[in-house]
Amino acid sequence: MTAKPADGLRPRAPEPKKIHIADTLLTRYNWYNHVNWLNVTLIVGIPLYGCFQALWVPLRLPTAVWAIIYYFCTGLGITAGYHRLWAHCSYSATLPLRIYLAAVGGGAVEGSVRWWARDHRAHHRFTDTDKDPYSVRKGLLYSHIGWMVMKQNPKRIGRTDISDLNEDPVVMLQHRHYLKVVLFMGLVVPMLVAGLGWGDWWGGFVYAGILRIFFVQQATFCVNSLAHWLGDQPFDDRNSPRDHVVTALVTLGEGYHNFHHEFPSDYRNAIEWHQYDPTKWTIWMWKQLGLAYDLKQFRANEIEKGRVQQMQKKLDQRRSKLDWGIPLDQLPVMEWDDYVEQAKNGRGLVAIAGVVHDVTDFIKDHPGGRAMITSGIGKDATAMFNGGVYNHSNAAHNLLSTMRVGVVRGGCEVEIWKRAQKENKDVDYVRDDNGQRIHRAGYQVTKIPEPIPTAGAA
Ligand SMILES: [Zn+2]
Ligand SMILES: [Zn+2]
Repeated sequence: MTAKPADGLRPRAPEPKKIHIADTLLTRYNWYNHVNWLNVTLIVGIPLYGCFQALWVPLRLPTAVWAIIYYFCTGLGITAGYHRLWAHCSYSATLPLRIYLAAVGGGAVEGSVRWWARDHRAHHRFTDTDKDPYSVRKGLLYSHIGWMVMKQNPKRIGRTDISDLNEDPVVMLQHRHYLKVVLFMGLVVPMLVAGLGWGDWWGGFVYAGILRIFFVQQATFCVNSLAHWLGDQPFDDRNSPRDHVVTALVTLGEGYHNFHHEFPSDYRNAIEWHQYDPTKWTIWMWKQLGLAYDLKQFRANEIEKGRVQQMQKKLDQRRSKLDWGIPLDQLPVMEWDDYVEQAKNGRGLVAIAGVVHDVTDFIKDHPGGRAMITSGIGKDATAMFNGGVYNHSNAAHNLLSTMRVGVVRGGCEVEIWKRAQKENKDVDYVRDDNGQRIHRAGYQVTKIPEPIPTAGAA
């Protein structure tokens, strides 16, 4: 049933869509409209002001120690709180811990949990695409800082579900009072501690406040840039995330990012005990203290499967670059008499297991001498090659395959193989994903499982 429009009411023409500034061309005349000035102030302007202040505010030792401690507290607020707890739900935290994390995470000045986790979920869901808010495909600098410095059309960021975050009162409280949290946790607390503790109010403000914020921000921004640019891809190489110890050192353990994108709900980033992941250690410690529980971890079996598959993929790529000889089904079929005739006329042809090889150029290089190899020319050398005279090595079978020039009609192995193909039976050839045949050692077509003594050689 279709509803008729009421009399006299014509459907209104759609209003012309307002184009977001981020979707317009950046020019000499409009660049300042493209810039997100609030973010520029927060991540560039204030740090510059801090550097300027540092010129005349002396750095005292207790303030330096406090700045480093508070750096770790606020950094972990982002990595253990914003990232692993709220964006990925990789563990559960008790209320006191959630309040603490929302507070110190706010002190890192990287936006509210709700905003941060929404973007981060989009980043995981749409990695490297246009819907990824900090796609490294738009450049390393863009993924590090450009995405915040330049305005983005929020409609272009991929949609994600944050209903769980909307139900978390701690998250909602922090979101609503974000500015107060930032000012208090970012600047007031570091200043109060240093001021009340040892009378260094200015030092607390400049070093534990402003400059510490700058370092925490730059460190965590590296997860979006460096972790998608530097290192190995042991689990999947279709997208940009990478594993590297340097990124881990810079980002409080978020550097095993290829693993993280594969297993995002694992509370760990580093799975080996010797890898640097203080965020994991801290979460584990909270568990011992009864503050965190339900730590999620993928089974080693699942992790190993991913690793093996990626290794297999790399192996297939390496194999495909090698010369394994012309595939049997692409070789011309020769009559036996024709083979003998050509060999008599001086062509160095040797038939082994029904496959004809042209060894003319190899005779002088044959490790067993000229006489041995020439004795096989024009004959069925299957048995001679497979132990009758000499049980050739795996490498010899491999090398031989590169000299293939034809197959003998009715040749034993070839015939069996062709018949099996015709009958559509499972031919014992394993192929990789690209359809390339896998030539396993000891399973070459010229290899006869049991060495056969030849009557001729006896
Ligand atoms: Zn990532
Ligand atoms: Zn993540």
